[in-house]
Amino acid sequence: MRRGVITRESVLKTVAEHDELGREAFLSKYGFGEARAYVLVHEGREYDSKAIAGVAHKWDQERALAPSEFSGGKDHAAAWLKRLGFHVRAVKNPDWTRDEIILACDLVMNNEWKGLDVQSSQVIELSALLQLLPIHAEADRNEKFRNPNGVARKTFDIATRHPEYRGKPTNGGSLDVEVLNEFLARPDEMAEAARLIREGITSGEFQGLDLAGDEELDDDFSAAEGRLLMRRHLARERNKGLRKKKIDSVLRKGGSLACDACGFDFEEVYGERGAGYVECHHVVPLHEAGEGRTRLSDLALICANCHRMIHRRAPWPTPADLKVSIEQYKSEKRAGSAGIGQQRAATAERSSGPTPAPTRA
Ligand SMILES: [Zn+2]
Ligand SMILES: [Zn+2]
Repeated sequence: MRRGVITRESVLKTVAEHDELGREAFLSKYGFGEARAYVLVHEGREYDSKAIAGVAHKWDQERALAPSEFSGGKDHAAAWLKRLGFHVRAVKNPDWTRDEIILACDLVMNNEWKGLDVQSSQVIELSALLQLLPIHAEADRNEKFRNPNGVARKTFDIATRHPEYRGKPTNGGSLDVEVLNEFLARPDEMAEAARLIREGITSGEFQGLDLAGDEELDDDFSAAEGRLLMRRHLARERNKGLRKKKIDSVLRKGGSLACDACGFDFEEVYGERGAGYVECHHVVPLHEAGEGRTRLSDLALICANCHRMIHRRAPWPTPADLKVSIEQYKSEKRAGSAGIGQQRAATAERSSGPTPAPTRA
């Protein structure tokens, strides 16, 4: 069985079988459920993309593909059908991401925390802007993607979650509330983040960032200011030329390449292999780092572990903050293990008579 090796002809034959049996009978015959993510649109009718692609296998392969055999991405069937020149449509638009909610929340804040109507010029403008955001792949969007209706609804979802709103919240999810709380706690910074996101989209700067397929940012990276600004932050600090300049300037001044937070020195541990290596972290907060050149003084030297820990959870500590917390944790642990040592000694004393007091506190 070679999954996905199907032809246009076999898909058309499957569509014909579907029309003959009727949708329900067709789906139950082959054990498929209703399409939740994508539908195949053919001659004005919609078909469950997974079922059609799966059953098409029976003409080209020895048998139809079972629903459980679509391992991996939810868009496998859609991709196969598209490759054969069929039109595939996303059933449901992707959930709003933090970046998008930041932009909507900014409108709501500027509107005295009230929702905006669908005819409002700001809603229409934001709708157009969101369509330019490189966060959601074209294939995942349908024709209603972030239309003025949806944008207006989102502004009410946010407004009705405001602590001073008296009434039932319309809808929306926990991410709306999270972003709203960021705006309430840090209004100026979040407004500035919204401004920078807009600036990045309209200048085209974000178009080169492939966020749709950016798996790296899924788990262990988070920022209150959203993915676009974070992606730009990472791109800046990974800029090889910039890193080299920073390293050269530190070495020229006779400094070492030890981590600013924990003191780890790659050369000291790895010898020749680690010589001249260290990562750079851009210390300017995301809501302040607009366009323009990165100064060398904006970069801190940081080891790979500490760097990961900084970006792991928002708000990001500075290398100096991280250094303090590493030292604090170390001394807490030392105090803790000294306590355990004394306890052990005390237990030993009770069970086997007098023993010398521990020499180390
Ligand atoms: Zn470190
Ligand atoms: Zn960094």
